Amino acid sequence: MPLLEVSGLRKVYRLKTGFRARAELVAADDVELSIERGETLALVGESGSGKTTVGRCVLRLEEPTLGDVAIDGHAVTGLRSREVRGLRGEMQMVFQDPLDSLNPRHTVGELVAEPLLLHGIVSKDDLRAELEQLFAIVGLGPQHIDRYPHQLSGGQQQRVGIARALAPRPKLVVLDEPTSALDVSVQAQIINLLRDIQRERDLAFLFISHDLAVVNLLADRVAVMYLGRIVEIASREVVLSRPAHPYTRALIEAIPVDHPSQRRKRLTMRGEPMSPIDPPAHCHLVSRCPFAKPVCSEVPAELIEVTPGHATRCVRFQREHDNGSWNPTP
Ligand code: ADP
Ligand code: MG
Repeated sequence: MPLLEVSGLRKVYRLKTGFRARAELVAADDVELSIERGETLALVGESGSGKTTVGRCVLRLEEPTLGDVAIDGHAVTGLRSREVRGLRGEMQMVFQDPLDSLNPRHTVGELVAEPLLLHGIVSKDDLRAELEQLFAIVGLGPQHIDRYPHQLSGGQQQRVGIARALAPRPKLVVLDEPTSALDVSVQAQIINLLRDIQRERDLAFLFISHDLAVVNLLADRVAVMYLGRIVEIASREVVLSRPAHPYTRALIEAIPVDHPSQRRKRLTMRGEPMSPIDPPAHCHLVSRCPFAKPVCSEVPAELIEVTPGHATRCVRFQREHDNGSWNPTP
């Protein structure tokens, strides 16, 4: 049994678009994924593709419109608010902007102590020792415990965010772009820290990022999202070196290369993204994909396994791969 299982997840926001006029914004649709103990699944995609929505629905910070989420075989969807608190011991989140997520009126020690006391991890007497230990794990010293968030650097604030997430000893941590607000040199330190912690604690990560270079350092498997849907999911190796979906290819080929000799012709998605309001059942990339054919707007785009562990949501790939004719030319 996987640690986390998400099936048929859909999140719709109802928007008021004018007098009596309403529209549905589909932020996440038909999301299927699972994560094993100790594994990192990266969720990648452009801004607005629905990554944060999926992370928040998994943690029940957001109520899914449809679908099921289970951790360790226990349903998360359908829990009452009192039961959701127990869930916080199993799953935690690290947010993109560390300063935003830390209450400025408390010392960082108090902020990390809160989940420790709430979940009964330690008694008041043992609190200081546990705090020192947690701070040491994230590379902070005892002198940082009594500081306020604004007295720390961005990297130190994110270390506090990680310490607080680790405090209730969760099995899964959702990391929502944990390094995007940080300087490049600090990013690498945080990634290394996360890798070390994961190894020591057998933690699973749902690692949300728009940056494939970072994903390459951390992920075991990768799910690529576009306009609310997963368009490809496979091992990191397969996604990064043998992607099936044209959109995944375009993302990978957009990664800057170091040396001019490595430059190549890039596959690019043209035009403007489709609106997430009332999206169609067919492929959301039809207007942008250089490989699109009439069939792409005629049949629903479904996520289908092409080889074990590798699924893609590309109608042409699915039809032509099986009969050996998949040789896409724009
Ligand atoms: P990402 O994290 O990939 O940038 P999000 O999950 O934040 O994407 O957003 C997905 C879509 O849902 C976007 O179109 C966004 O504008 C919309 N959205 C997110 N939260 C809300 C909300 N509370 N109300 C209305 N629309 C929202
Ligand atoms: Mg986001």
